[in-house]
Amino acid sequence: MVAVITGAGKGIGRASALRLAGDGYKIAVCYNRSKEAAKKTVSDIILSGAKAKAYRLDVTDSENVNSVIADIEKDFGEIEVLVNNAGIAEQSLFTDITDEMWQKMIDVNLSGAFYCSRAVLPYMIHRKRGKIVNIASIWGETGGSCEVHYSAAKAGVIGMTKALAKEVGPSGITVNCVSPGVILTDMTSHFDESTINGLKDETPLGRIGMPEDVAGAVSFLASADADFITGQNISVNGGMNI
Ligand code: NAP
Repeated sequence: MVAVITGAGKGIGRASALRLAGDGYKIAVCYNRSKEAAKKTVSDIILSGAKAKAYRLDVTDSENVNSVIADIEKDFGEIEVLVNNAGIAEQSLFTDITDEMWQKMIDVNLSGAFYCSRAVLPYMIHRKRGKIVNIASIWGETGGSCEVHYSAAKAGVIGMTKALAKEVGPSGITVNCVSPGVILTDMTSHFDESTINGLKDETPLGRIGMPEDVAGAVSFLASADADFITGQNISVNGGMNI
């Protein structure tokens, strides 16, 4: 049983990789730029007694995605779970978003999940089993000021999740997503202390989320306990913005 996780060198992807390894999956640790971090995720998983292998996979390159997914199936094992975690964020006034900024945001966050899902589905459909977990965002649910391109891409991920769930449900495959609130990773590391304190104050549970909080929801959606759950979005946000 193999779980493929994009962007698994760090942050939420790394936490999900460690968690799914603990759940009994062999982990295909996919990375784009963070080769050393991915090697560390692999060695930590192997030290824990599970199996893992690193693969370079750029989610914006559909040919690369197709060939890496084929390699994983051939030399690592049958893909049971895909976690579309790779993502980028950026803050900008809407009127300052260039064509390139808009396109890159859509390419990584939305097209990336499309390419990876399209690449694994023929294998899953053939076996009539599989689970896809997409990482969206609170801003895809509610909209984030000065992050309109990111919000639009993540709202697209939620829409894709619901539509694809209907299409592949008859093939025994579930498609769900997790929408994190503010989680302490490299993506949020530029926030200063007063911003972090303000965000904590806005959060009913009174703290910032950790990657492991999101990994718990990923683990649940990938598990047999979620066999009858599809097309759903789980918000992991400490009660923020609800
Ligand atoms: P992170 O530490 O910056 O991780 C982002 C990951 O995306 C990295 O592992 C990176 O891989 C990967 N990535 C970026 N571009 C890629 C590409 N072209 N191809 C393949 N991988 C690529 O941030 P994070 O917080 O863990 O983010 C993980 C997911 O959670 C993202 O989808 C993000 O939008 C979502 N999210 C995060 C928060 C938050 O507050 N942190 C909130 C809501 C949603 P490399 O480093 O190897 O390039």
